[in-house]
Amino acid sequence: MDSALSSIDFFRQMHAHYEQLIVRFKGRTMLLDAVLQLAWRCFDTNVTTQCQGLPELDCHKGCATCCTLRVTATAPEVFMLARFIQAVAPGLAQHGINLRDQVAKANGATCGHGEHERVALRQRCPFIAQGTCVIYQVRPLACRGLASYDRKACAQAASGKIDQIPYSEPHMRVRSLVQNALQSAMRDGGLPWANYELNQALLMALDDDTLEARWLAGEDVLHLAQVNEVDEAEMAATFDELKRVLS
Ligand code: SF4
Repeated sequence: MDSALSSIDFFRQMHAHYEQLIVRFKGRTMLLDAVLQLAWRCFDTNVTTQCQGLPELDCHKGCATCCTLRVTATAPEVFMLARFIQAVAPGLAQHGINLRDQVAKANGATCGHGEHERVALRQRCPFIAQGTCVIYQVRPLACRGLASYDRKACAQAASGKIDQIPYSEPHMRVRSLVQNALQSAMRDGGLPWANYELNQALLMALDDDTLEARWLAGEDVLHLAQVNEVDEAEMAATFDELKRVLS
């Protein structure tokens, strides 16, 4: 979305691109790479454009204050991350690191807790090592969309002293548009399009290597990890209304 492009036009363009990819790669493993490369590339490009002229962010490598919040992700993001973890597992095992077990441990602490309870739990994400995200290149859109102008405010919020953080509005808006367009296109393409709690969904994907193929065939294999705080029927109605307006 360049500065002259409205949010609605950006959503329309993203939706059309995702739709083409879903038709082209439906049922094939390449679909994950295709939609996520598009999502990540468009997120980065448009956030850069939208942030021009705004104050500098206060996020830095080594700061993981926000990485205790609950992370949600779409199925393509979950399966891509599972692939990544499986690919790096042999190398990490030589250093005594087992990401699958770290996810299982984190899930044991977080499973069943809602967004607000997760803030109070302060359970660190299983992918933090020495303040750095070890899966950074495949991190979910939810993580990409959270950027702060004030690290001190993040720390104060994490310790319960304040509840307002000056987050970057362009990051949150572009993340929403990129992700919602993907969910709407997946829905139109007959693919499960919900949002899932990351630890639980990822553990399911890591422990059953049939799930990715079954999801590609249209089965909602991650439904046990679905986040239900946003009503699915309401979201579907919004997508339908958007399509009506855009047609
Ligand atoms: S996936 Fe990475 S960026 Fe996201 S919460 Fe975990 S450590 Fe932080």
